[in-house]
Amino acid sequence: MNDQIPRLLLNLIGPGTLAVFGAGFLWAWSIEKRRHYLLMLAAACLLFSAGIATQVLSLPPDAGLNALLSNFFYTAAVIMAAGGLLRRAGQRPSPWLGLAILALFMGLIFYFFYIERSLAARIYVQNFGFGAILLGTALRLRSLARGPLMDRVLFWTLLVFSLQFFPRTLLTAPLVRQADPARFGSSPFWLALQFSLSVVGAALALTVLLAALSDLIEDLRRERDMDRLTGVLNRRGFEERSVALLRRAGREPSALVLIDLDHFKRINDTYGHQQGDHVLRDIGTLLRHSARRGDLVCRLGGEEFAMLMPGADLEGAQAAAERLRAVIAAHRFPLPALAEPITASFGLAQRRPGEPFAIWFDRADAALYTAKAQGRNRAVPAGL
Ligand code: GH3
Ligand code: MG
Ligand code: MG
Repeated sequence: MNDQIPRLLLNLIGPGTLAVFGAGFLWAWSIEKRRHYLLMLAAACLLFSAGIATQVLSLPPDAGLNALLSNFFYTAAVIMAAGGLLRRAGQRPSPWLGLAILALFMGLIFYFFYIERSLAARIYVQNFGFGAILLGTALRLRSLARGPLMDRVLFWTLLVFSLQFFPRTLLTAPLVRQADPARFGSSPFWLALQFSLSVVGAALALTVLLAALSDLIEDLRRERDMDRLTGVLNRRGFEERSVALLRRAGREPSALVLIDLDHFKRINDTYGHQQGDHVLRDIGTLLRHSARRGDLVCRLGGEEFAMLMPGADLEGAQAAAERLRAVIAAHRFPLPALAEPITASFGLAQRRPGEPFAIWFDRADAALYTAKAQGRNRAVPAGL
């Protein structure tokens, strides 16, 4: 009896670790509640943990009920894990398919306990079945293998985890003796299962948790660097990215375009601040759509925007600014009958070799001031 207690504790390490991971996913979900897949992964960990605990603690003690209940927990856990991973990758797993798989597994376990009792059959059903579900999931997620590092690690860990079900079961299940359920807990099958779960399973749970956290960090970074109203970068995001972009552009010419809406105060005064916000939102969309790949668009503040064009010279920037000026002047903003079109003024400057950003910016700003002074709705280049 006494040596049962250390073994029991040892057997509870697996479910305990999984429960901790479950709590980790719940915590991640509490940070970003829109990411429902985190809840599914939390449920997967907690359900699997409950499945192991059901078996280890023999709760309920009736063997048939125990087999059915633990199978319910395990199967639901695997389905939740597969669904959560698919949803994370933007796919839509079918809840009906999940329910059908759960019903099939419950039926098979019932059959192989109450109708044609076979422990080996139950072991094969569960292990080959779970391996197949996870392998199918890994194959549907194969595009992750070409993604960022965290996604690649996740894909390969999932693949290894799904594949280990097959050789492990084939090697160890035949050693389980049907007649001796009391020794099941020390059978090579159970020990190999515990080992694979606590090593590969824990590695998978850890990888998924890290991938989820890196998703959250990416979300927060995007939010930190974006202007909510217009959907373009804010000043902070612009400054950070422009440093990296200019370093990459090296000796190529780069151009900076500053944009200020004309008589914007009048729009606010006439239609109200909220309508003014609608105009700003439209300007953000127009800017985003007219920027080339690699250009940085930002809202510096108020009704002032900037566009950094790596690889563009003054002529190129002038052409882009002229195009944008015409697009804004021709755009129909969602305002009640407007007497005059909404326009913008542009100041642009090409960077001189080695010129500090602040000086470059001031030259573009002076050109913008000139555009205002000359009557607005125009693009003025600063001399090289
Ligand atoms: P100018 O042609 O000389 O640029 O005239 P302007 O009226 O556009 O110039 P000014 O820079 O003096 O006014 C900018 C106005 O933009 C003042 C402010 O009420 C408005 N504004 C700044 N931020 C926001 C915002 O987030 N939403 C709205 N609706 N208005 C804003
Ligand atoms: Mg202004
Ligand atoms: Mg203005």
